[in-house]
Amino acid sequence: MGKAARNIIATTVLAGLVYAGATGTLGQIAHNPNNIYNDRSLTITDEEKDLLISNVENSIGYDVSSEKEDDYLLLNAILVNNNLSDEEKITFFRFGDMFYDNPYLDREKTYNNLRKVKIDYTSMRGFNDRNVMGNYDYKENVIRIYDNSDSIIGHEIIHCIYNIKPSFLDKYFSEGMTELLYNEYFEENPFLEVNSYPLEISAVKMLCDVCGSDIVLEAFSKSNMRPIINELANYSSKKEAKDKLYLLDELMTEYEEKGTVTHYVEYEEILDYLENIISDKYGTGGFEHNSFKYNRKLFSCVFSDNPLEDYLITIGNEGIGEKAYFSEKLKNDYYYFDIEPCNYTFSMNNKVYAKN
Ligand SMILES: [Zn+2]
Repeated sequence: MGKAARNIIATTVLAGLVYAGATGTLGQIAHNPNNIYNDRSLTITDEEKDLLISNVENSIGYDVSSEKEDDYLLLNAILVNNNLSDEEKITFFRFGDMFYDNPYLDREKTYNNLRKVKIDYTSMRGFNDRNVMGNYDYKENVIRIYDNSDSIIGHEIIHCIYNIKPSFLDKYFSEGMTELLYNEYFEENPFLEVNSYPLEISAVKMLCDVCGSDIVLEAFSKSNMRPIINELANYSSKKEAKDKLYLLDELMTEYEEKGTVTHYVEYEEILDYLENIISDKYGTGGFEHNSFKYNRKLFSCVFSDNPLEDYLITIGNEGIGEKAYFSEKLKNDYYYFDIEPCNYTFSMNNKVYAKN
């Protein structure tokens, strides 16, 4: 990160602190969150808003489009966080587009997390965490980093932004969404899902194809699978929708614990169930169905003896499926599903992140 940008932050943090005072805007947020974040709009004076915008823009070093004004308060929370270094603040600022693209984000909760989150690079790993590269401790609001890299910090920042209790969402869903969001917003090749959780990402993409990514984002943001269940129930019954999602979670839990699964005939039913719904909804042979079939093929590697190895071979054979689900910028170019031939040789690090 350039020195100039860091100096700018150092001079603007103090001005930003005006808003962190107990009687300032923060006090209003704490007492009446609906006034602040209702319909994504800010209820602060024009002067407060102008000062806030100039603080954030100065610290980022570029103009942020005026449509994003409603999310300046989230960026300001980062600005006034004394636990973060200037360099870390700049890393957090890069998530502005993600705030803006998500109407379901619980902005009050995110605001409170961002104001206080710390990054800890020094903690000792537990014995069972040998393969863990980082984690987010949602109780302490601390990101612990064991293997320092942009993608690991970025993944954990997304956990912090959403602050989802691990027990509230199916683990495969929480991790697949987190990693997919990181890849769409930050990876150079956003469709090459080979960093971490590739099968979890395939599962999430199948749910997006069937239910619509908007509904999936709502479920993730609200820490509740109900929007997905309700959508599936429109094409089956609520009981069947719940049962199939439960089965999918059971399958992924077995995969995560043992590295491979048994009973796959029973588990295949989930995929048939989802494919029937997508055929009902969109017919067969369209881009939605093609995207689903591709993701189903990748996901089905979970049934092989070496799922990750098989996954890489399958991408090599099938090519890279290109479709954006969440990033509005990416959707401009990749809204429809397409397959790009794959000329890469892969190596997968085979490590996992901690359980949230
Ligand atoms: Zn994670």
